[in-house]
Amino acid sequence: MQFSDLGLAAELLRAVEEQGYSQPTPIQEQAIPPILLGQDMMAGAQTGTGKTAAFTLPLLQRLLPQANNGVSPARHPVRALILAPTRELAAQVWESVRTYGQHTMLRSTCVYGGVSIDPQMKELQAGVEVLVATPGRLLDLVQQRSANLSQVQILVLDEADRMLDMGFMPDLRRIIGLLPAQRQNLMFSATFPDDIKKFADQVLKSPVRIQVAARNTVAELITHSAFKVDPLRKRELLANLVRLRDMRQVLVFTSTKLSANRLSRQLERDGFNCAALHSDKTQGERMQALADFKEGKVTVLVATDIAARGLDIEQLPHVINYELPPNPEDYIHRIGRTGRAGMTGEAISLVAPDEQDLLQGIEKMLKKKIPMQPLPADLLDGQPARHAGRAASRRLAAPAREPSAAVQPALFGAGDQTASVPGKRRPQQIAALFLPPVVAKQD
Ligand code: AMP
Repeated sequence: MQFSDLGLAAELLRAVEEQGYSQPTPIQEQAIPPILLGQDMMAGAQTGTGKTAAFTLPLLQRLLPQANNGVSPARHPVRALILAPTRELAAQVWESVRTYGQHTMLRSTCVYGGVSIDPQMKELQAGVEVLVATPGRLLDLVQQRSANLSQVQILVLDEADRMLDMGFMPDLRRIIGLLPAQRQNLMFSATFPDDIKKFADQVLKSPVRIQVAARNTVAELITHSAFKVDPLRKRELLANLVRLRDMRQVLVFTSTKLSANRLSRQLERDGFNCAALHSDKTQGERMQALADFKEGKVTVLVATDIAARGLDIEQLPHVINYELPPNPEDYIHRIGRTGRAGMTGEAISLVAPDEQDLLQGIEKMLKKKIPMQPLPADLLDGQPARHAGRAASRRLAAPAREPSAAVQPALFGAGDQTASVPGKRRPQQIAALFLPPVVAKQD
């Protein structure tokens, strides 16, 4: 099937062509025709499937009859509202709206928190047909009478499951209460837990239901592997993998902001170009980190799940789970950052003893075993290195001098766990053995 078979207008086909897309993706094939007909939709699709174009192209087309170049703001009311859970995703969706709408007269903008509200107020007051927003900032703007939603004809809820996970349900309900009852509703969600199904039943009217293959079945091109490793040696292993395998662009996931910050600082000290991405960073810092990573100025981007959700990084070859996600579905979202658009990708998990259950949960969901890799030889022995990267390099030049059997069990998996002699460990290693596992907390 070709894009031209989908009934899209010439100005949109031109924009698609300029993007170099030769064929619609499965979600685009299935979603575009019913959206063009004005139907509601509930689509199960993840980032990487082409879902943004699947809703943006027909949405723009439905607004084309009202496109105009009038100067009066009254001629540009908000007609389509796209809600997204995070600032990064909102910014990315807006970029698609601008790209696909570049040959139309439709105006658009994007509003999210963490940045000054004044420019957003001005943009809205000047009038836009398509508004991409995160829920909280949108409500602030409504309260300040800068956003008027009374003429919205199309509502898109992107990554609806994540919006609910992030506690946006009350905000979403308030926003929906401000919209005209007569409108088209499009909901995109990677997963469909019960609360999403209930919410969809309340919001959507006789929706067309679409499910495109989840990333775990699509992304055959992703290789999964795991290392069993003592938590104290994860950083060393990570540095070792990045350095020895010459990884140029690697996205590393931690479960908390604290852990992301700490790891990023340590890796900087180890000599890597590194940045952290999480919700405590300012919007400017987040955008900068992402831009540097995309441009290759940053080799290792350490991110939490929420900050990384929906990121579109072309041809990202490596994703490393430094800490496993508490929810197996987040593993799919994480690895969905790689193996995109036909490229091969690699997902590596560093699994501590107290994360075995999480690994099993992921394997159950994937319906396959993740193969365990043997630890690199220079990590089999010795103590955790203070500066992992440099230590790894030094070891390459000269074999470690401390191949003590007593400390070997600091790593398990490749070594013999029964050979454990805790009495010979460093105090912090012993403490790590007896401390309760850190409860993985999302930011
Ligand atoms: P999305 O799932 O919307 O985040 O899109 C994932 C990536 O696929 C983005 O980089 C899009 O530019 C790209 N993309 C979208 N549609 C197509 C298509 N028909 N052919 C090739 N790439 C596409």
